[in-house]
Amino acid sequence: MCGIIGYVGKENAVPIILEGLHKLEYRGYDSAGIAVLNEDGFMVVKQKGRLSALEARIKDHPIRGYMGIGHTRWATHGEPSDINSHPHLGSQKRIAIVHNGIIENYRELKEYLEQKGVAFVSETDSEVIAQLAEHYYTGSILDTVIKVVSVLEGSYALGIMSIDHPGTLIAVKKDNPLIIGVGEEENFIASDVPALLAHTNKVYYLNDKEIAVLTRDKVQFYNIDREPLQKSPETITWSLDSAEKGGYEHFMLKEIMEQPRVLRDTIQSALGSGDNRRIIDSFDVAAFNKIVITACGSAYNAGMVAKYVFERLCRLPVEVELASEFRYKDPIIDSRSLVILISQSGETADTIAAMREARRRGACTLSIVNVVGSTVARETDYTLYTLAGPEIAVATTKAFSAQLALLYILAVRFAGKLGRISRQQEEQLLAEIAVLPEKAAEVLENIEAIQKYASTCVGYKSIFFIGRNIDYAIALEGSLKLKEISYIHSEAYAGGELKHGTIALIEEGTLVVAISCCEPLYDKIYSNVEQVISRGAKVLFLGNCIKAAPSEKLAIIPLPKTNPLFSPSLSVLMLQLFSYYVAANKGLDIDKPRNLAKSVTVE
Ligand code: GLU
Repeated sequence: MCGIIGYVGKENAVPIILEGLHKLEYRGYDSAGIAVLNEDGFMVVKQKGRLSALEARIKDHPIRGYMGIGHTRWATHGEPSDINSHPHLGSQKRIAIVHNGIIENYRELKEYLEQKGVAFVSETDSEVIAQLAEHYYTGSILDTVIKVVSVLEGSYALGIMSIDHPGTLIAVKKDNPLIIGVGEEENFIASDVPALLAHTNKVYYLNDKEIAVLTRDKVQFYNIDREPLQKSPETITWSLDSAEKGGYEHFMLKEIMEQPRVLRDTIQSALGSGDNRRIIDSFDVAAFNKIVITACGSAYNAGMVAKYVFERLCRLPVEVELASEFRYKDPIIDSRSLVILISQSGETADTIAAMREARRRGACTLSIVNVVGSTVARETDYTLYTLAGPEIAVATTKAFSAQLALLYILAVRFAGKLGRISRQQEEQLLAEIAVLPEKAAEVLENIEAIQKYASTCVGYKSIFFIGRNIDYAIALEGSLKLKEISYIHSEAYAGGELKHGTIALIEEGTLVVAISCCEPLYDKIYSNVEQVISRGAKVLFLGNCIKAAPSEKLAIIPLPKTNPLFSPSLSVLMLQLFSYYVAANKGLDIDKPRNLAKSVTVE
């Protein structure tokens, strides 16, 4: 979950590493640390809290060196503290490492080393890597790393430096991302592309258990048997600008506002002549008798929306499974199952595990991913890319919208291929999807009402979201977004379910956000609205088919009309803005909410 970066080259590594860590802070921010290697040995500074605290310490006590590694942590083993921060050194201070992931057998390894007299200083699983490397050190850093990796169980992306090899930086990974950036007389390692974009757009993606040996002038790759590997670099086409805030107070607001463009690009790639179109065209959906969608967090909610669309249009059964549950539930899938994996980063550990389980059982896997070259994208049979660009705010907005757009298009095209809808219906539905970007722009041009309403909601301890049918599916996302960034407790319910229990929680002054974009069910959801108002609740009613008039207890925010199946793409914008402005009015750290991280690469 954390971010790692490493540098070897002709410049002082410290500012380069700190700047890279800023771009990776979205991955974790419990603590940050840096180690450089110079003629005096390792110089290490690590600090609990945000990167700014580390920077302040380095400003007071500057360090420098032409090679270094840095880390921004999302703690899994050991509390956030200075001592548990990375980098970790072996007891002899000859090897320094940064680690992203979890070493599952660290207890056994630690006991083994302790019996040999090694004294550990931290509570982390990661320290065991540095201690093992010193323990196994043979004089060859490459051989040592191969030996260490052969006994590690779990997941890791590692940057490793040895005092005996100044100028040689080692990188290796398993189940966590790591890329190698190639510059002029300088080379880099990083968890993610934005950390390197200021220096290079030429990167290598490391596969599991491939080892990269970086010096200032070259990068060499080896497999675990020490055989040299030939790899080809890829060129990143994003600009650094697209990873900057562009005048908005928070990345989240910038990313919300980018959604019309993201929808346009993503829809174009699937309906025009892009790669997504080619994959969808060639896809033989008749080979499957069911669809399983598996994902986590917001991507799971995208799957919940998609279930309504696929089932309605394709008449194929669709199951939506939490990726963290899927792998342990002995899922009923086989070669006639299509498993759709959804992940912004393509590195979500639970989703990767679900994908591998699906493949092991012979299912066909199709992923919807934002990050090119990510593990999920590389390992699934088919990949559709959301063209959202880099998403920095931890709470997803634009990647979610792009996932929905691709899922709609898949559902319509599959329904066409299966003959469940006529050619004409297919065209009409696709035409409706094609105008969603304009309608999204219309929603985002009228944000004052939601902004004003949200500013009155900061005092709530709990907020309920209700909807029926597909409006219920998107209510789940509205509720999650609110929890993530405003820290207000929230639950989403199907409107008809309220009376079976939750209505007991409604009292004078409770806030209920109701969504109504399914016209045939308008009367039903309106009854639920009346039920909660009559028990004292206030209601924020969002929708495109609302007939009621506003009152003291009922605020109404209209949305543009569209086919109900695609309406979540419009209602979600208001839900995102609602959460954003509630959190902004509470003065919270919106882009980096507490306890969360963007790319959840631990189980
Ligand atoms: N398991 C390591 C720790 O707790 C690394 C966690 C991470 O990847 O964020 O320090």
